[in-house]
Amino acid sequence: MTTPMPGGLRLMAVHAHPDDESSKGAATSARYVAEGVRVRVVSCTGGERGDILNERLKDDAHILRDLTRVRREEMARAAQILGVSHTWLGFVDSGLPEGDPLPPLPEGCFALEPVEVSAEALVRVIREFRPHVVTTYDENGGYPHPDHIQTHVVTMAAWRAAGDPEAYPHAGEPWQPLKLYYNGWSAERTERLHEAMLEAGLESPFADWIANLRRRPRRQIGTHVPCAEHFPTRDRALLAHATQVDPDGQWFAVPLELQQRVWPTEDFELARSIVPATMPEDDLFAGVRELEDPDEVCRRAPERDADGDPVVAYVGPPALPPQEEGLEARSTQPQDADADDRDEMREEEGHSE
Ligand SMILES: [Zn+2]
Repeated sequence: MTTPMPGGLRLMAVHAHPDDESSKGAATSARYVAEGVRVRVVSCTGGERGDILNERLKDDAHILRDLTRVRREEMARAAQILGVSHTWLGFVDSGLPEGDPLPPLPEGCFALEPVEVSAEALVRVIREFRPHVVTTYDENGGYPHPDHIQTHVVTMAAWRAAGDPEAYPHAGEPWQPLKLYYNGWSAERTERLHEAMLEAGLESPFADWIANLRRRPRRQIGTHVPCAEHFPTRDRALLAHATQVDPDGQWFAVPLELQQRVWPTEDFELARSIVPATMPEDDLFAGVRELEDPDEVCRRAPERDADGDPVVAYVGPPALPPQEEGLEARSTQPQDADADDRDEMREEEGHSE
């Protein structure tokens, strides 16, 4: 690792709800903070429609009276534990629609906001914080919640606009981040943890999952950030979201030591990079650290392609089709199959939204 550059490096993690920053990429945030990188978490919504997932807090009158305020306090505590600064983008949680047919999304929620409105808010934060690297979710949201998918859409729009002097001229000086990542969800990690749990004679919380993994599109994940020593910090940050996390749930069923030994990284997909990239890599700032003055590159208006997108040196590969055939057939099955999948993903996420 080279010496830190003047002004330092900056990482921005864009998330849908408070607690997502602690379940996705949190140990990576803690690692970079420990190295002197400034990290900003952006929560697009306030998590107003989250359920109380912690049985022990379900009847707590104080929480029931003002869940929004409680979640703000939880978020402040998690940010303090991770050592990150934090910005609320100010949009309203869309909730996770449930039922068959699915009910319409609530009026005024994040997923229904015009993209140009939400993107302007994010562009403003990007131009103020001036990150070299931004993380967000993949086009499926990494998890099929309308706010997660919208977080992807809005971050992509902001990536395109932030360095454009013509776009949102009143939202600050143009700033083009150099790399854009998706938080990776690795099927291989789940398989390895599952096997290691069985080998250790422990009950694996992933048994139901394993059967379904092969039916999911496979993401091509090339970035593995070593951060095992920060897993305890990640867990403490997640537990700070006390209303959203079941301390007896699946997330905490896998011993820390086993996780650190079997899968000591957090994983990301590099989606776009202005600087050249070589896969696999183990550092979100690979290619940025090598620049003499990355700030100068970010301030320069990027070249644009025929679609108006910044010209990139690297674009992430598409997801691969599922290993198992019959996905098309499956998508015409009753909604229950998808609902089951979604419940499993909620469990894996360690939280309700
Ligand atoms: Zn979420």
